[in-house]
Amino acid sequence: MALVNEHFLKLPGSYLFAEIARKVKAYKISHRNADVISLGIGDVTQPLCPAVIEAMHKATDEMAQKSCFRGYGPEQGYDFLRDAILKNEFAPRGIRLNRDEIFINDGAKSDTGNIQELLRWDNTIGLTDPVYPVYIDSNVMAGRAGTLENGRWSDIVYIPCTAENDFVPQIPQQRPVDVVYLCYPNNPTGTVISKKELKRWVDYALKNDVLILYDAAYQAYITDPEIPHSIYEIKGAKKCAIEFHSFSKTAGFTGVRCGYTVVPKELTISTLDGESVELNPLWNRRQCTKFNGTSYISQRAAEAIYTPEGRRQVQQTIGYYMQNAQKMLSTLQSLGFRVYGGENAPYIWMKTPDGCSSWEFFDALLFGAQVVCTPGVGFGPSGEGYVRFTAFGTKEKTDEALERIAKWSNK
Ligand SMILES: *Cc1c(COP(=O)(O)O)cnc(C)c1O
Repeated sequence: MALVNEHFLKLPGSYLFAEIARKVKAYKISHRNADVISLGIGDVTQPLCPAVIEAMHKATDEMAQKSCFRGYGPEQGYDFLRDAILKNEFAPRGIRLNRDEIFINDGAKSDTGNIQELLRWDNTIGLTDPVYPVYIDSNVMAGRAGTLENGRWSDIVYIPCTAENDFVPQIPQQRPVDVVYLCYPNNPTGTVISKKELKRWVDYALKNDVLILYDAAYQAYITDPEIPHSIYEIKGAKKCAIEFHSFSKTAGFTGVRCGYTVVPKELTISTLDGESVELNPLWNRRQCTKFNGTSYISQRAAEAIYTPEGRRQVQQTIGYYMQNAQKMLSTLQSLGFRVYGGENAPYIWMKTPDGCSSWEFFDALLFGAQVVCTPGVGFGPSGEGYVRFTAFGTKEKTDEALERIAKWSNK
């Protein structure tokens, strides 16, 4: 008899975005002419830059010729892209990695989930709260989360990051963790971590044999030179951290699909008998068995963002989104709202006024200004009383949304 993985049955439906869509749809049915602007979605709106398009065309033409057609590529990714990453992302920051420590993938979402195959089911997982929901749901599927009680999973250690602690994740004191996810710049709060705070986590991990899963999907949005782009800027991190990168937010690759995972050779974790095991060869083995590489065309596209034109064009698009972010920050601040993030990340995290819940504010904003935000509570219990705005909209829509919010809140 075939038996189901019952952990899947514990998962609530994808409540957050489904519920937002339902509410917006209902609003549109009862307000036929309403023009609703969404600052809720986390997807980009600007097209791929010319350097990337050119590289994709060229790669496509190569595929049309017998002499340079490519079939299955290396499971770890093509050397041209791994070398471009080493040279452009890590070497300038004084980080020495080898080619075989870089694994090209089809995006960071898959690997933040897949990496768990290297970990026993009974590791205790620590998560900053609020959090990118993928880390939780993928651990639920693997049976690591326990049961859901009042919006909290019984076996997950929540690390609250709120205005009260300046969004600085504190080392868990009550209950030790074995594996911890850190995402900086953070989705959903848009806040960053300083080198000093990140060093506390690396030191803690080294001392307690904790594995850090570091999601750097938004590192390209960092403007402050003091903020680390990679956890490997911290001494000792290669011994305790895996890092995930993505071209999705960096260069608008959400539909192209390409990213990479760094698994340093120095990184070891333990068997139950206390024997040290290197994760790099295990991840290589896993990828060779279950993954057949990202398409050649996507990898050539990613390589093109490191050419001089590519760099300039990508920076231009990032600058476009960050102008939205700045405008959102200054407008919302001037209206008296308490806002966070938005300086080194494309998200604004806003405290709802007058003790309003996340969903109450969502409804009020939809009905009052026809603007959609994301209720913070959808990202975890510590997100209650906040909402998230994204800077990934077009300038025109963002400006109009802000005008509407200003009119509505001055009423
Ligand atoms: C968007 C995002 C990613 C990137 O996912 P891809 O699969 O590479 O598109 C990873 N982590 C976080 C926190 C994100 O918001």
